[in-house]
Amino acid sequence: MKRRDFFEKSIIAGGLAMPAAAFSSKGTESPAGSLPEGEEVFIEKPLAGRPHEGKVLAVIQPHCDDIAYYAAGTVAKLMHEGYTGYLIRTTNDDAAGAGDSIGERVLNNEVSNEAFAKVMGFKKVYDLGYRNHRMDEYNIQEIKGRLIFLFRLLKVDTVVSFDPWDHYEENPDHYVTARAVEAARWMAGMNTDYPEQLEVVEPHPVIERYYYARGPQIVNRIVDIGNFIDKKVEANMAVVSQGGGGRTGSLLRRRLAAEGKRLPILGNDDRTADFNYIKNFMLDQFSESIRGIPSDRKTGEKYGLEWAEKFRYFGSNDQGMTDYIRKNAISI
Ligand SMILES: [Zn+2]
Repeated sequence: MKRRDFFEKSIIAGGLAMPAAAFSSKGTESPAGSLPEGEEVFIEKPLAGRPHEGKVLAVIQPHCDDIAYYAAGTVAKLMHEGYTGYLIRTTNDDAAGAGDSIGERVLNNEVSNEAFAKVMGFKKVYDLGYRNHRMDEYNIQEIKGRLIFLFRLLKVDTVVSFDPWDHYEENPDHYVTARAVEAARWMAGMNTDYPEQLEVVEPHPVIERYYYARGPQIVNRIVDIGNFIDKKVEANMAVVSQGGGGRTGSLLRRRLAAEGKRLPILGNDDRTADFNYIKNFMLDQFSESIRGIPSDRKTGEKYGLEWAEKFRYFGSNDQGMTDYIRKNAISI
């Protein structure tokens, strides 16, 4: 991500060459009036126990820092409540982050991706390996075919991914991945798509989707991540090769020390500096300039929550009929 790299390098170097707003996209929540008639914003609160035990979550990200940035609190919550999680990264991350050569960047980002997966507790990581910033040159049908196989193989119930209907998303890796996921998740349930796969896997549609966006989006779900904000911070600390988290806080602390200054909020050691930088600056005070979306704390504040993430959510739409049959069917 060019603009994040720019921000990170600039802040470490001691200043921004241009106002942050000049290269920051705004994550604007649509007014409630934009929701389809009869639909309201649902506040997803923490659930006791492990109600999602036995369910499978596929978390799809183009780059090693995407989920850490935008949805790690919700993913941590869902896995804490019982989901088994799998991480699918669609690119090889060869165009951004630490490293002077393609090979170095690929390796450093792969190490970050694995570290992120370990912090989050994913059961397995799948790397599809498409070239970074070039996903719009690949045939989407191939990407869909691979995702359809994985959704069937893993029997995925729920996905977390970029919103395929996001507006003003600049990165083709994000919107190509999002569109492939959305198409693959319902086609995975049909026996007419890739029927040869059915010799080894069963048709299996993915019903639940949590879609996040950097641009304007019709938000219908706010997830309370208050219990998981520290896990989200740790997830961002694991991504050291790119993004606005990683070791940015400790590097800033050292630069200030070299100038004979300190920010009390960054504490007295590297770990505290990295943790507090992410929690207070990246996810809150300077979220717009670092991540391009509003603060997680401000998102929560609107709904009386301490920290929150927002999504366009889709679930089962046949619940009404299922409930009706359960209540009204009589024995014959
Ligand atoms: Zn990305």
